[in-house]
Amino acid sequence: MDNVDHQLIIVGGGPAGLTAGLYAGRAMLDALLLEKAGPGGQVMLSHWIDNYPGFPEGISGLDLAEKMTAQAKRFDLEIKQATVSKMDLVGPVKTLYLEDGSSLTCRAVIITTGARANQIGIPGEKEFTGRGVSYCATCDAPFYRGKTVAVIGGGNTAVQEAIQLTKFADKVYVVHRRDALRATKVVQEKAFANDKIDFIWDTIATEVLGDQSGVTGLSLKNVRTDAPSTIKLHGVFVLIGTRPNMEMLPLDQLDNDQGFIHTDLEMHTSQPGVFAAGDIIYKNFRQVANAVGEGCVACLSAEEYLEDNE
Ligand code: NAP
Repeated sequence: MDNVDHQLIIVGGGPAGLTAGLYAGRAMLDALLLEKAGPGGQVMLSHWIDNYPGFPEGISGLDLAEKMTAQAKRFDLEIKQATVSKMDLVGPVKTLYLEDGSSLTCRAVIITTGARANQIGIPGEKEFTGRGVSYCATCDAPFYRGKTVAVIGGGNTAVQEAIQLTKFADKVYVVHRRDALRATKVVQEKAFANDKIDFIWDTIATEVLGDQSGVTGLSLKNVRTDAPSTIKLHGVFVLIGTRPNMEMLPLDQLDNDQGFIHTDLEMHTSQPGVFAAGDIIYKNFRQVANAVGEGCVACLSAEEYLEDNE
């Protein structure tokens, strides 16, 4: 076999990547984790996480990321800050090209580059993220018990999450830029039958309003009449789609759906020796808890592959 720089390279240092790294460290694989910003991934953007087991009082995203990083490092996982710009994943030796012009070779790759929620890009959105602006109702709905919230978007995610939010919030506005939902009929019918949900059609959000306490309202504009309006509320859920972090991925070498990578239950991709886990894979639910499980499985599968192919 040809010499390579590492047995395994994990690309992405969110919960899935760090879990894969923890397992790789404990298996004493020669593994390297590459992360472009610093370990943690999207979880760093979560102000508070109440649905990750083991933390009965909840934990901040930052603390959880630091704990996961420390645990992986305890087993000597090597973590390097570097941006992967290109990959060649075909054949027994995989090559990862870095932004600084260098390259690294390995026998197995675990892709855990994650995804990011689309933002609308209106004033106040960034400022109040984590203080009333959220991109995940499953994560944050219980913080809005008895309150008023708005969901922006008309797809399956927005409408399903609006229904989920009515279990906690007293009133849920769905603000949609057209007069018809993109969500499937059965989901639509459930939402139309829910008397806690009010639809605001043909309308875009123009500004998130707030003060020191957090979000207090949302400015709107009707796209047909240009009429402005304002609603008072405590939370805004922006659910207008998710983009995979795929810029560095050779999508012609991996089965995927618009950049979300297809895997089997053991996290094998269509390319031998390449595994994927976390929000970058094609799936319905994107939570820290399932990303962690997939990271574990991806590493165990990579270990099995390395044993069979070295
Ligand atoms: P999506 O289907 O792409 O819907 C995005 C929604 O956001 C659309 O209603 C879109 O409006 C709106 N939107 C996009 N950009 C906007 C902007 N800048 N301002 C205001 N509104 C904007 O995304 P998704 O709901 O996250 O779903 C992604 C995929 O997962 C879909 O294929 C969906 O069917 C699937 N999914 C399936 C399930 C399930 O249970 N089977 C659950 C969730 C998601 P327009 O309609 O006007 O374009």
